[in-house]
Amino acid sequence: MLPLWRSPRSWSGSTCKRWKTQRSKAESTSRERSSAPRSGEYLLEKWGRTCAYCGTENVPLEIDHIHPRSKGGSDRISNLTLACRPCNERKGNRPVEVFLAKKPDLLNKILARAKAPLRDAAAVNATRWNLFERLKRTGLPVETGSGGRTKWNRTRLGIPKTHSLDAACVGEVDRVVGWTCPALSIRATGRGSYQRTRLDAFGFPRGYLTRKKVHFGFATGDLVRAVVAKGKKAGTHLGRVAVRASGSFNIRTVSGIVQGLSHKVCRLVQRADGYGYSLANPSISNRKESAFLPGMNAEVSNARRG
Ligand SMILES: [Zn+2]
Repeated sequence: MLPLWRSPRSWSGSTCKRWKTQRSKAESTSRERSSAPRSGEYLLEKWGRTCAYCGTENVPLEIDHIHPRSKGGSDRISNLTLACRPCNERKGNRPVEVFLAKKPDLLNKILARAKAPLRDAAAVNATRWNLFERLKRTGLPVETGSGGRTKWNRTRLGIPKTHSLDAACVGEVDRVVGWTCPALSIRATGRGSYQRTRLDAFGFPRGYLTRKKVHFGFATGDLVRAVVAKGKKAGTHLGRVAVRASGSFNIRTVSGIVQGLSHKVCRLVQRADGYGYSLANPSISNRKESAFLPGMNAEVSNARRG
């Protein structure tokens, strides 16, 4: 599934552009004026994209050493902050304690924040931008979008919400064609369990699975079609089968479980390979697919009561 980019600010074209110039300036400053690592993105997240000294937003920010390098300050991230041009010039190479001598509250706030580690979410975001920058360097067309934009695209085009259609609506999308075709859904269902003893809630054996997994040519998880000519269960049932040693099978169909069907009326459609396949038509619903697949405990129905 395609990742849905969620930028820290809600998506809007103008913010994005401003933000891009802001970022590149902060980075070039870091390269020109100090040997600080390329940590602009990390710092922007950490300091909330504002000037640490005056709180101005949406201006080019420069990396500032809280304790100046000329006075022995390090390039460690805990000694770096972001400042707008005027603040940076006013501070010059003075230590922050001198610069903010008249604002002890702000001084304490900045010092505390400098030492605090980046929150998890912010760390993920910084990593994302770094990944984005590196992908751009490959020269391939790279594009990002936000979860909000995906939803906006989907709503605008009148497309229902499904995993696959959401993926088609990521980023800059003018229109989506042919989305009404069904999507193949593949789900890991497992191949049964090694444990052949079923336990009750207290851990005592309550039944045993047969050593053999195949009965009358069918194994639990196979996709079968059962055609019943008459009786209460008359009709055609297509779905995953759960086998019993007795030959009386259950079939999990889209509309529910049909119990006690003879192996004689079953025809194999597809062998179980540990995955459930179903075609879900996005224009109708994708909720039914799960009904098609046997759960992990479906095998219980071939249990012999012990
Ligand atoms: Zn400032």
